[in-house]
Amino acid sequence: MKTDIEIAQEAKIKPIKEIAESVGLEEKDIYYYGPYKAKVNIDVYNRLKDKKDGKLILVTAITPTPAGEGKTTTTVGLGDALNKLGKKTMIALREPSLGPVFGIKGGAAGGGYAQVVPMEDINLHFTGDFHAIGAANNLLAAMIDNHIYQGNALKIDPRRIAWRRCVDMNDRQLRFVVDGLGGKANGVPREDGYDITVASEVMAAFCLSQNLTDLKERLSKIIIGYTYDGKPVTAGDLKTHGAMAVLLKEALNPNLVQTIEGTPAFVHGGPFANIAHGCNSLIATKTALKLSDYCVTEAGFGADLGAEKFVDIKCRQGGLKPDAAVLVASVRALKLHGGVDKRNLGEENLEALEKGMDNLQKHIENITEKFGLPLVVAVNRFPGDTEAELNMVLDVCNKAKVPVALSEVFSKGSEGGIDLAEKVVRAAEKGKNHFKFVYPLEAGIKQKIEIIAHEIYGADGADFTKEAEKEIANLETLGYKNLPICMAKTQYSLSDNPKLLGRPKDFKITVRQVKVSASAGFIVALTGEIMTLPGLPKAPAAERIDIDESGRITGLF
Ligand code: ADP
Ligand code: MG
Repeated sequence: MKTDIEIAQEAKIKPIKEIAESVGLEEKDIYYYGPYKAKVNIDVYNRLKDKKDGKLILVTAITPTPAGEGKTTTTVGLGDALNKLGKKTMIALREPSLGPVFGIKGGAAGGGYAQVVPMEDINLHFTGDFHAIGAANNLLAAMIDNHIYQGNALKIDPRRIAWRRCVDMNDRQLRFVVDGLGGKANGVPREDGYDITVASEVMAAFCLSQNLTDLKERLSKIIIGYTYDGKPVTAGDLKTHGAMAVLLKEALNPNLVQTIEGTPAFVHGGPFANIAHGCNSLIATKTALKLSDYCVTEAGFGADLGAEKFVDIKCRQGGLKPDAAVLVASVRALKLHGGVDKRNLGEENLEALEKGMDNLQKHIENITEKFGLPLVVAVNRFPGDTEAELNMVLDVCNKAKVPVALSEVFSKGSEGGIDLAEKVVRAAEKGKNHFKFVYPLEAGIKQKIEIIAHEIYGADGADFTKEAEKEIANLETLGYKNLPICMAKTQYSLSDNPKLLGRPKDFKITVRQVKVSASAGFIVALTGEIMTLPGLPKAPAAERIDIDESGRITGLF
């Protein structure tokens, strides 16, 4: 089979104008970024405000292997298949970060015959949104240090500055730095550090904003650190939120592209799925719901993280109500949960597969019972899967009366997703929907975390370090008690220990640290170390990425 980039480059890509017209957008609604990319004016949403929303379909996954189980691929293929069935469908996805493109993971624009194009552009710079977000983040950093340099009227304690600089690159060298060196004229020396742009709080706030005014108000709430006597200092105190919003004005308009099969797709915003909520911008999702009958969207990581945050943060803040969820499962991940070593996942192993189904089972329970959503399991077919293995997964679901479909969109495009699409339509239009949030906002911070741990992860509860306890008390005094929780946890286990596969029992999670992302409107609860600036591997993908005289790019994947 051809590589992703070969398939993408052979696609018969249509002018973006045609794609825009296919969803009823007019010339005045779009700004062109070359022939195949456009930004859609944010005002389109206001114009269509009173129009009925289309159906919202969330694509999520079981606890994945490090290689990923195919959420993006399924989102794209399902969108194409729904269109083929005559349902006017749009896709809403996150924008890829440059960091992973040059590292191990590669791009994030789907795979095989289920991709968004132009894949090179989408994976590299795209329309510059991430650069704008980086600039806004770094403007605030510059304003903080300048304030201190100019006399520090706000009495900011340089040892308690929480705002870090950012860069959209995997670069471990910048995790911890000392800056402001060089003597009196060159700033005040302090310990500082960088995060990758997608981990910036600006990214999270950007992706949850309803409009420019909302974004500006959110930015003013960012806590950059504390004064010498322990009072929070905000971006608003530094009078920086207006200028940050200026930098983000263009970026806030959702990016329109298309799939290989010509399905319109918004690819917009891309917050981390651990310290942030991990889905594309609210504006893109809401606009897609106005422009189409169906909007298929993805939430990062497994359903214990991605779907829970989609429900409790994004849907809650944005007033969204999903109509159905698609749970992506792969034979290789199920075998891993059944105890097969990572290196042997290519071999048929029915015993392990059956054993690994308890992970799938827990995610099914979470989606149908805890979120109350109609569900379809999508078994993403990988080349090495045997018929016996695939049949076993289908049989187990069928016996349990859980709607299930084999998905072959990677190798066949929309043709391979028809059964899935038909079942999704049935679920969305006829399924029992008792959509609900996992916890009430009024519960205490600790209680909300305990509810998530117990209900969603299957834990006996949550332990808190002294440091976490202290910060929770501080945040509740400062008035942040009623914010939703953004769990930062490994995606490789339902627990907070990546080695506990399957459906772990008799465990507690440990919350080591909490912090508020005031502009995003959530409390981040960190279990374990979360890396906010990845490094490059020994043989980075960058070594194999190249371009020829005609401008043709190779080595992206
Ligand atoms: P996720 O969004 O869950 O991280 P992706 O859709 O990005 O997963 O897929 C992860 C990787 O696996 C990508 O490189 C993709 O091309 C590949 N992939 C996905 N589905 C299949 C499949 N059915 N067969 C082969 N490779 C696949
Ligand atoms: Mg993905």
